[in-house]
Amino acid sequence: HAKDSGRGMHVFYAPGMEGQPAALLRQEHLLREAVLRQSFVLHYQPQVKVEGGQLHGFEALVRWQHPGQGLVGPDEFVALAESRGLITPIGRWVLREACRQLKAWHDAGLPRVPVAVNLSAIEFRQRDVVADIARVLHECDLPAQYLEVEITESALMQQVEQTRETLDGLQALGVAVAVDDFGTGYSSLAYLKRYPLNKIKVDRSFVADTPGDSDDVAIVTAVVQLARSLQLQSVAEGVETPEQLALLRRLGCDLAQGYGIARPMDATQAEQWLRALPG
Ligand code: C2E
Ligand code: MG
Ligand code: MG
Ligand code: MG
Repeated sequence: HAKDSGRGMHVFYAPGMEGQPAALLRQEHLLREAVLRQSFVLHYQPQVKVEGGQLHGFEALVRWQHPGQGLVGPDEFVALAESRGLITPIGRWVLREACRQLKAWHDAGLPRVPVAVNLSAIEFRQRDVVADIARVLHECDLPAQYLEVEITESALMQQVEQTRETLDGLQALGVAVAVDDFGTGYSSLAYLKRYPLNKIKVDRSFVADTPGDSDDVAIVTAVVQLARSLQLQSVAEGVETPEQLALLRRLGCDLAQGYGIARPMDATQAEQWLRALPG
């Protein structure tokens, strides 16, 4: 009984306050069940060429099919999954599902475009991550050139030697690597020359207030130029307006992604984008 328990326990029993801990425990329990039942779904957000506007590929974004809350976005469960040891099985499902879907589109004769998958720092730091990815590609019979991985800067900042090995391994496999949310982490620019990388994704926080905010325009300009100088592709995130897209075109940014172009969509809708591609 609540009465008998220690002071701390009252937090759990107080009326109207079956607050944080209990709610979190319940969410964790539901997330564990979701992992067992694979109650997730991938949405796909188009990435288009800034020049010309045609589809380049998709970013796969995970959603949890929550029993009571409908589709729940990753910002609401990835941190919990990471702290409870659940991100690895979820990430593996994401990888497998993205590759399976891509292969199905190939088999249906649709145009072949790459899909980018987000890797959490925890997944990226696992010693066998390259072997895992290679195995999934092999099992799905999917050529590596159609898979990309997105990794945040902070994940690249730790354990230099292992990071290099992993990135070399991905490069050897033929899987492209994008630095996600570029400019938002604690990082040193030195890693850009130290590691084999393919893309820089300009974080949407820098894109949001362009072209009106001259500081943000300066930052986006610098990142796009940096990418070009290092012979990396530049991708702008969170493009919502035609004015933002026009700026990116002036700057020579390679790819753009955002609600102003297309929202993340389910596989059926993404397939319509593929059908609309020429050839
Ligand atoms: P991210 O990789 O930076 O993905 C972009 C996020 O921005 C997505 O949110 C996308 O829906 C959203 N977005 C795209 N365009 C716009 C726009 O124009 N305006 C605004 N306001 N937002 C836009 P989402 O799907 O909620 O994903 C959030 C984050 O969760 C992702 O950020 C990524 O870091 C993480 N995530 C997503 N899927 C996975 C996954 O399979 N595994 C892991 N470990 N993390 C994932
Ligand atoms: Mg991403
Ligand atoms: Mg991003
Ligand atoms: Mg971002």
